[in-house]
Amino acid sequence: MATTSSNSDAGITSTRILIIGTGFAGLGMAIRLQEMGIDDFIIIERANDVGGTWRDNRYPGAACDVPSHLYSFSFEPNADWSRVYPSQPELETYLQKVANKYQLRPHIRFNHNLREARFDDASGRWLVRSSGGDFSARFVISGNGGLAEPKLPDIPGVEAFAGHHFHSANWDHDYSLPGKRVAVIGTGASAIQFVPEIAGVPAKLSVFQRTPNWIIPRGDRPYSRIEKWLFKYIPITRKIVRAKIYCQNESRVLGMVLHPSLMNLFRRSAIKHIERQVADPTLRPKLTPDYPIGCKRILVSNDWYPALQKPNVEVVTKGIREVREHSIITQDNIEHEVDCIIFGTGFYATDNPIAAMIYGRNGEQLSQTWQNGEEAYLGSSVHGFPNFFFIVGPNVTLGHSSMVYMIETQVQAISRILQASDESNSATVEVKLDVQREYNEGLQKLLGGSIWATGCDSWYKHRTGKITQLWPGFTFTFRRRNRNFKRSDYIFSSLQNNN
Ligand code: NAP
Repeated sequence: MATTSSNSDAGITSTRILIIGTGFAGLGMAIRLQEMGIDDFIIIERANDVGGTWRDNRYPGAACDVPSHLYSFSFEPNADWSRVYPSQPELETYLQKVANKYQLRPHIRFNHNLREARFDDASGRWLVRSSGGDFSARFVISGNGGLAEPKLPDIPGVEAFAGHHFHSANWDHDYSLPGKRVAVIGTGASAIQFVPEIAGVPAKLSVFQRTPNWIIPRGDRPYSRIEKWLFKYIPITRKIVRAKIYCQNESRVLGMVLHPSLMNLFRRSAIKHIERQVADPTLRPKLTPDYPIGCKRILVSNDWYPALQKPNVEVVTKGIREVREHSIITQDNIEHEVDCIIFGTGFYATDNPIAAMIYGRNGEQLSQTWQNGEEAYLGSSVHGFPNFFFIVGPNVTLGHSSMVYMIETQVQAISRILQASDESNSATVEVKLDVQREYNEGLQKLLGGSIWATGCDSWYKHRTGKITQLWPGFTFTFRRRNRNFKRSDYIFSSLQNNN
């Protein structure tokens, strides 16, 4: 059981460490704390079960585009993955099993949505307010998810639409699509998964594409019984598969960061893919991007192009001018009447709303600190916000491999800082400003020469144009940098000299 004390006067529950979220990050951190012998922690979770993004994104066809044997905890392998790319239900079940196996549920406060986290300079503790109750914690570790807040497009009139509408991350499974005129706005990683699943269902499906994506074939297939047997009884086979996927993915960094011209190999594959699947001479150019491959996330799909060519499907590329009560007006003044709009328009990534809820030393609001783009040290610590750590904070996202690997790296790194803080008997630990600055200057230098800076717009970029989402390198380099943890990068303070 979680050993927490409750200050009944103020109705505030006191805990040593408060974790936000129960996705891979929150669960992974909690397991590490248990390993360290720390039991005094609480996890707040806004929903009524664990799973994070893999609980929320339930749209038809939702799946991961990183192979299952790499997209899982290294310490909790699963010989039973049904196929190369895991589906959403399989990933959600995996995370539920992990939470059960490590007996994390007693630590979790479900239906507790974060409202505010405020650092108290005098006590050196965080006051965390949530929809389900308030907490006082010495440390806060946020595994809130980089892609957790669905974003609706800023199209004039969108709020006036009177038909049915929902976002891909809040799929309305009760809404019946047959016979309806349905619009999909957005053609990103989510849309290319759900559009093929629903394409033949409505009377008419209009897919509004602002920018085409580069798409390569998806090498998916079920694992055979023999393979699963081997993974289970001869674990080295599973490890070899994992290592092979890892190395293949890492090799992409050569093109993405070091030598962008190498990305032409992917371009050839993507061009061949579209040539094989789209014969129509008017449709093919509409679907072919004019920016370098890899600048936006490379998507994988075998059924996106065929779905767009179904007789009831149209691809609209003219750009949306406005949305009216029952229609969408494009730039060419054509009115597209629709009964339902499905938004596949992504998430608040570079402008994560959580930043407006966090107040550090002297009441400094994180969204203000980050107004010109998010910055942290090693994606987890921000100067001015003592004892607060992000998992999957700024510049940790990958364009090429598994986020679970990055999460495990950060979990280990945070645990080392916690240990150092204990050993030095300090009340607060905070990254030094010059260390954070120097680190970010180095990142931006690398990012400036990367494929992501070659002129496209993407959710990797803050509105200022700064790339604040991506780690510009190999994942093992990130791990090495985190391992080479230097105490001198941080200020360990007692309360007296905290201010
Ligand atoms: P996304 O990649 O950000 O795509 C959003 C789409 O909406 C884009 O096509 C964008 O067009 C369009 N859009 C946004 N605002 C618009 C507007 N005002 N008018 C017209 N179109 C507009 O979002 P997502 O598809 O939800 O995917 C987000 C990320 O989630 C992915 O990149 C990936 O990292 C993750 N994801 C992963 C998986 C997986 O398999 N692991 C699956 C799904 C999602 P523009 O391109 O022109 O901006």
